[in-house]
Amino acid sequence: MAEKKEKFYITTPIYYTNGLPHIGHTYTTVVADMLRRYKRMRGYDVVMTTGTDEHGVNVERAAKNAEIPESEFVARMAEAWRTLWDELGLTADEFVRTTDLKHVRTVQWLFRLCKENGYVYKGHYTGLYCIYDNAYVSEPKPGNLCPDCERPLETVTEENYFFKLSAFQKPLLDFYRKFPDFIQPETRKNEIVSFVEGGLKDLSITRTTIRWGIPVPGEEPHVFYVWFDALAAYLSAVGGPEYEKRGMWPADVHLVGKDIIRFHTVYWPAFLMAAMLPPPKQVWAHGWFLMDAAKMSKSKGNVVLPRPIVNMLGMDALRYFLLREVVFGQDGNFSYDALVTRYNSDLANGLGNLASRTAAMLERNFAGQVPTPGARLPQDDALARDTQQAIGEVLERYDKFEFARALEAIWAVIAAADKYLTTEQPWALGDSSDEQTRKATILWTSAELLRIVTALAHPVLPESTAKVWKMLGYSAPVAAVELDGLRWGQLAPGTSLGKFQALFPRVEKTEAIERIEAMANEELNPPKTAASTAAAASHLPAAGGAAASAAGASERIAIEDFAKVEMRVGQVKTAERIVGADKLLKLTVDIGSEIRQICAGIAQYYEPEALIGRKVVVVVNLAPRKLRGVESNGMIVAASVGPEGRPVLAGFQEDVEVGARLK
Ligand SMILES: [Zn+2]
Repeated sequence: MAEKKEKFYITTPIYYTNGLPHIGHTYTTVVADMLRRYKRMRGYDVVMTTGTDEHGVNVERAAKNAEIPESEFVARMAEAWRTLWDELGLTADEFVRTTDLKHVRTVQWLFRLCKENGYVYKGHYTGLYCIYDNAYVSEPKPGNLCPDCERPLETVTEENYFFKLSAFQKPLLDFYRKFPDFIQPETRKNEIVSFVEGGLKDLSITRTTIRWGIPVPGEEPHVFYVWFDALAAYLSAVGGPEYEKRGMWPADVHLVGKDIIRFHTVYWPAFLMAAMLPPPKQVWAHGWFLMDAAKMSKSKGNVVLPRPIVNMLGMDALRYFLLREVVFGQDGNFSYDALVTRYNSDLANGLGNLASRTAAMLERNFAGQVPTPGARLPQDDALARDTQQAIGEVLERYDKFEFARALEAIWAVIAAADKYLTTEQPWALGDSSDEQTRKATILWTSAELLRIVTALAHPVLPESTAKVWKMLGYSAPVAAVELDGLRWGQLAPGTSLGKFQALFPRVEKTEAIERIEAMANEELNPPKTAASTAAAASHLPAAGGAAASAAGASERIAIEDFAKVEMRVGQVKTAERIVGADKLLKLTVDIGSEIRQICAGIAQYYEPEALIGRKVVVVVNLAPRKLRGVESNGMIVAASVGPEGRPVLAGFQEDVEVGARLK
């Protein structure tokens, strides 16, 4: 009988849907995804959950501003989040929405258990309330004014259900002592322990002043308030009341930002203890990415978006940077400069260079096959020993959530391989049988090292390691490697290698940063069309309506209108592909009076080399714009052919002078 796999259940926070994901959310989700891949390679049955927290007064208000029902507002938001995660390769196993029926049932069930066990009572909550914003205010402005709208606040008393958090001071402190690894990192643990030691107040868990929430059964108009609703999503994702069937609860680790650790390590285990359900095994709080030493936030205008970075450098580059740059659990600085520097030094020159060098030498010298190594010299043995040792170290670092150290250890092996190749100089060896054997040994050694490094880096760099793995001749995916069985010496001589695909093309730093910033700017301030303005106002993606100006398509124009468009004959001087923009070519075009840089969306149909010298029609008086962050000063005219709109460049049968105007 097959041995049952050990389970591992990991969660990101259930993100609040009042905006779209930035790099902070991306960071948590990247860590969760990386751990999921890693644990699978260690033989675990893994479930990763993420989702959207969709209730509360902020959603109520945002939906009102957008003039749509709350349900539609949150449906669009959830879709936008899910789409972005899919696009970034961060699709979770479970995506839970707090408006899902299964979640509603879970919250109501949890409440009933807490109530039956005597930990819930009805009482009164009194607080300062802004009638305009429909919210309690905990930190009023001087003169009891609302910090949001500056209107005078009123003292309001409402009937609430309370959770007897005060009864859990001792149980929680005992729990922290019994499971010393429950709160990570250590610094956060001390903070929480002293908070609980200071005494716990009972917690109001329902509201009657909010409409958009999960109803308390039989107690309308009571709805559940924030944490009693949101935290339960971790449980509803894996079965809710029937959690035992799925076998995933308790969670092995909740990943959270340090601002919400208290709710996860005090409220959440207390709710579960009150319901006699098992608390999670661990809560890991990470720090912030800071720009100019300020926490990133939309209101400060220093928000970093994932998409432009991924367009420019690839998702693996972003994953690598986030995990390598800071010690997990601490704050770190985010800068595009550091990002691009690491990309070039560690990825392009490091892993990328080792892979392409090894592939090229094997292709050239051994007809694309793994050679049979000969007798080993001490330097071969030393490299083998160091690499074998690194396997153990890397796994240990991953297990301790020391991701930066794990990557450091992997890259130390890559550096050792570079040094080895530089010293051994396999390219300088001749054709004698001895020298061929020596060459085979050196190249087998570097290919074997590359294999091990690739398997170890896979959880962090899923896309690029998959490419290297194919190049090494494997048909099974690298994700299927069992890390516990990874050893030096498993690379089989005679294996036919696959085709090598370049991993990380080097980029020029200033240009790369400019383009990332331009793309981010475009995303934050989309061009003002009617549809996108409405969407931007409500932080919503546009609802996908077709443009309303179809009537204009067949409208006739006067000759004066046509004369406004200045078209001239241009000649292509240079053409190149653009990293991060599959469809675009960057051209320089001579238009007679000057040389222009123009981007054209023709990369899938025209080879850059074939365009040089070609005469084209250029619209020269178009306002400059940026495409994927690259400035384009003019437009090349092309026919749009077939259902896919394949571009065919306009040209001339006879020779025409560069700069001639089309009339
Ligand atoms: Zn207000």
